Amino acid sequence: MIVKNRFVKLFFPDRCPYCNTVIESGKIACDTCRKVFPEESWLNFAKGGYPCFSPFFYKGIFSTAVKRLKFSGKISYAPKLAVKICEAVINLNNGQRYDVVTCVPMHPKKRKKRHYNQSELLARECALLLGAPYEDLLEKVRENLEQHKCASIAERRDNVKGAYKVINAEKVRGRKILIIDDILTTGYTLGECCKVLQKKHPALIHCATLCAKNDQ
Ligand SMILES: [Zn+2]
Repeated sequence: MIVKNRFVKLFFPDRCPYCNTVIESGKIACDTCRKVFPEESWLNFAKGGYPCFSPFFYKGIFSTAVKRLKFSGKISYAPKLAVKICEAVINLNNGQRYDVVTCVPMHPKKRKKRHYNQSELLARECALLLGAPYEDLLEKVRENLEQHKCASIAERRDNVKGAYKVINAEKVRGRKILIIDDILTTGYTLGECCKVLQKKHPALIHCATLCAKNDQ
């Protein structure tokens, strides 16, 4: 196994998720990128007032990391990016423990096309780091436009309405839930997911994303 891992590392070395340079195994970023990491995490709110913790604003090397994870198949970035999400969660959530970590789901057709859901990759890694199980709690039942393709705020709001459904109400009832997405923009997507979960009486819902847009 060790030999196999060394072989893999030789041909697929660890790379910095923010600039793609080769980094030492076990590091989460190169020294240059680490220097521009913000010192503080950001607290925002998804629609409906659900707290959302994020380590980065959606700009510069941080938006590049999201785009590579999302569109360029750089799934190996997910564990490194998840470390920063968990740092933001721990910095801001007053010691809250979660019973389950989940993600904003992708429509099955889109998932088939992309082969993975970047938010699920991040959520699974966050679950490992936070010591809570990962579970799919929601499904996307309606195909809609991607939120960034909506022309207006009102369109973004209407675009997500009725798009999500709880898979099993018993998995939600009475539980403390952390839901992960890649970016918080207007907060309508996470807000809609929280609204749908809330109807099944969870004990608590927190959100976390890698980036938050600062113009929301
Ligand atoms: Zn870097």
